[in-house]
Amino acid sequence: MPDGCFDSEARGPYHARAMANPLRDRRSAAEWAATGQVIEIAEKLGGFEQLSSIVEADLAALEADKLPRDWRESPVTGQLKFGFADAQQTLPTVHCTLAVTVDAVCQRCLQAFRLPLETGANLLLLEYQETAEGYEEYEVWELDEHMLRPQDFVEELLIMAMPFSAMHIDSSSCKALTGTADDADEMTKPFAALRAQMTQD
Ligand SMILES: [Zn+2]
Repeated sequence: MPDGCFDSEARGPYHARAMANPLRDRRSAAEWAATGQVIEIAEKLGGFEQLSSIVEADLAALEADKLPRDWRESPVTGQLKFGFADAQQTLPTVHCTLAVTVDAVCQRCLQAFRLPLETGANLLLLEYQETAEGYEEYEVWELDEHMLRPQDFVEELLIMAMPFSAMHIDSSSCKALTGTADDADEMTKPFAALRAQMTQD
């Protein structure tokens, strides 16, 4: 690695982490837990492939000129804290808090808006078919494989935090509710047409 990599210019927060990002490391759950590691997350949405494709598919409803340009740049922040649930150190756990603001399309008015998502979980990391009694404060997270890459469950948690149907939360920003968008008409037309059909029968 050339010395130049460590010049101050290259040392943005993302570059520094990219050198050795524990999110992308693969270790067994027991190893993660044994380190007691705390991982501070400072990623970009674009770094999560599946999450990006979900957001992208949602934004595809927009016309090209309405597409938010930097949607992949949205920061994903949070913290992972590994440990054990039991004193014998046989049950690995991870406490996660995550936040991201994604660009989404409001299903009511079909306009792009910024949707803040926050999620958290207290997970008991169990191997396939492994069980543990008496740890109700944890959600069981069944591991697909022995080696665990934190990036993968962070992404899964973020995807689970995505709403099935995104909508403006406050009605004053939703054009469908304030009645100022033409799109709102288009939106209601299929239902109006359907209703017209039904009443004809
Ligand atoms: Zn809306």
